[in-house]
Amino acid sequence: MKEYNYCPICKIPLQIGIIAGKRRKHCPKCDFIDYKNPLPVAVAVAVKDKRFLLVKRGSPPRKGTWASPAGFIEIGETPEEACLRELKEETGISGEIVKLIGVSKREDNEVYGDMLVVKYLVRTKSGKLTPGDEVEGVKFFDIAELPDYYVNIYKQVIEEIQSGEVF
Ligand SMILES: [Zn+2]
Repeated sequence: MKEYNYCPICKIPLQIGIIAGKRRKHCPKCDFIDYKNPLPVAVAVAVKDKRFLLVKRGSPPRKGTWASPAGFIEIGETPEEACLRELKEETGISGEIVKLIGVSKREDNEVYGDMLVVKYLVRTKSGKLTPGDEVEGVKFFDIAELPDYYVNIYKQVIEEIQSGEVF
């Protein structure tokens, strides 16, 4: 992960000190402190008629693998808005939030470091399947077709969908 060596505001070298119980880089001149926080990501586990809408990732991490549409939550957005925006951008399909699946920590060693992942179950609505600029493909998967790694992550929600518990 990239680290600051200079204050991004004052452009002078940062110092290291104990701030709020941890060693952190901070600026001796202004109040900038280089806090390290996980990046917030919203994931759309998008389903229609018991089929899961996945995208083939067009950029790292895990470029080329099939995954649920996902992306960073922008300033000013709610996690739900980010989830539905990413779904629309990556697949051309709009959707509505059914429920929160869960919030978890994911560590990405390729690019982003620690991420805080907020996963929603989404019912897809209208739209034409259109891969966005950031993905290499979009496709609905039957439950039996889902890749093993995907089933491992979403085992519980897949079972709920399969049994008709949710919708
Ligand atoms: Zn500064």
